[in-house]
Amino acid sequence: MIQNFSRLGDQTRAVHAGEFPDPVTGASSPNLVMSTTFAVGADTTFSAEGLGGDDPFIYTRWGNPTIRQLEEKLAVLEEAETAVAFASGMSAATALLLHTLKAGDQAVLSDVTYAAVAEAANELFPGLGIGIVKVDTSDTEALAAAVNPGVKLVYIETPCNPLLRLTDIRAAADIAHRAGARLAVDSTFATPIATRPLELGADFVVHSLTKYIGGHGDALGGVLLGRNEDLAPLRKKTSIRLGGTLSPFNAWLIMRGLATLPLRMKAHEQSALKTARWLETNPGVTKVIYPGLPSYPQHDLAKRQMKNFSGMISFQTADGKETARRLAEKLRIIHYAVSLGHHRSLVFYLHSEELLATSFKFTSQKQLDSWKAFAGDGIFRLSVGLEDADDIIADLEQALKGEKNGKTKN
Ligand SMILES: *Cc1c(COP(=O)(O)O)cnc(C)c1O
Repeated sequence: MIQNFSRLGDQTRAVHAGEFPDPVTGASSPNLVMSTTFAVGADTTFSAEGLGGDDPFIYTRWGNPTIRQLEEKLAVLEEAETAVAFASGMSAATALLLHTLKAGDQAVLSDVTYAAVAEAANELFPGLGIGIVKVDTSDTEALAAAVNPGVKLVYIETPCNPLLRLTDIRAAADIAHRAGARLAVDSTFATPIATRPLELGADFVVHSLTKYIGGHGDALGGVLLGRNEDLAPLRKKTSIRLGGTLSPFNAWLIMRGLATLPLRMKAHEQSALKTARWLETNPGVTKVIYPGLPSYPQHDLAKRQMKNFSGMISFQTADGKETARRLAEKLRIIHYAVSLGHHRSLVFYLHSEELLATSFKFTSQKQLDSWKAFAGDGIFRLSVGLEDADDIIADLEQALKGEKNGKTKN
């Protein structure tokens, strides 16, 4: 069994971290332990309040051997002291917000985030007396102006869903810490293969395991990573009580997917770059946003902050709604569906008017202008899967055929 992963590569870590041959049977593959309860001694605590770090397993909402193996694998890959797994990415995000913020507290959030996070900030948290200010965190000056000394938490998403706009993590960490706040980074689009936010000064990392980390579109999950001193109390005081526990079966599936993450990310990046370059040459496509393209507005920051440009592309056409209808009807390989990071390619149209009205609800013209500069009336979010890039491109080509020539029209 490997004790120290610090000098080993990502792929070795992904395969072996958190795993060991079963001491009873010698099984090489991790056990799936579905038991919700564990036979214990008479001196066992009945409240999670009395739970110590080294206590045996008692009840699966408090801890489970299969979930713990996944948490260890994730912590090793992210180079975090510890990890707490959740039933979904949203469950991880809300547990972090509810643990760190109390009535009267202030937080600063990226104005473009995963839609459900934006909606929770609009509707759930104000009702609890928690003030959440949204700013375009890609604008370091705007972020610095928003993070006043009363702010407890800065929560960013980079690259953000669905714009693929980046926030400079190191700058955000400096701004947060100078004001006495903590920095949380939703790194779902980047994965630990592209970016390690903790190394850049972040205090917490959030991932939806449902996306690249699980990688196969068959299990919801989420995780928080960071320091022991932060996450041990978060587990005991908040996560166990909120109860968004990951199913051990999902933990087992996600662990199996995670074992090939570094290899998959290389393939996602390679095919996404090829597809993005092809989209740039397609006359029906008016704009392509991919951090790996030289035309990408934050390409220098992307090169500095991302070791892998990931597999997400956003693009626009002249008439997005019409193109969406055509893609949903004509695509054969790519699924017209939400979600991302799977081995299957997925595409979905995000109409600006609808998204701004339901999820983002910008309060300033500047935020709206920044959105429009990236997304216009709407964008297609394309998650480039693991099919052959030439087949993905051919599928897009046949479905986009007859597309109005946006470039001459504009
Ligand atoms: C999907 C996603 C989430 C939410 O994750 P779930 O597992 O669906 O709850 C959060 N952040 C980002 C960036 C996502 O893409």
